[in-house]
Amino acid sequence: MTRKPQTRRDPDPERTAAANRLQTAIADRLEGGEFIPCVSYGAGDMWISDDPDDQRFAARACLVCPAFTECWRYITAWPELAGVWAGRVMTEGAVR
Ligand code: SF4
Repeated sequence: MTRKPQTRRDPDPERTAAANRLQTAIADRLEGGEFIPCVSYGAGDMWISDDPDDQRFAARACLVCPAFTECWRYITAWPELAGVWAGRVMTEGAVR
């Protein structure tokens, strides 16, 4: 099921729980010494950039992320308004 993108006015406890699960998956991998591109590069701004070149770079880097599956599950169920998630560029809650 695909849901509406989150807005600040409608925090959804299920979305928050899903986001927490993703954050835990990322933190566990970082703790295990794995490389998470959007965190480990020190270039996380590319994941929230409006520049198409940055977005393409980020989307490609996601493909080698060990948390890709968890990230893909999250963004598929809980669209975000913007940013690069699991290799997808989100714009107003839709994949661009
Ligand atoms: S798949 Fe991409 S956005 Fe998701 S955690 Fe990995 S690097 Fe970050």
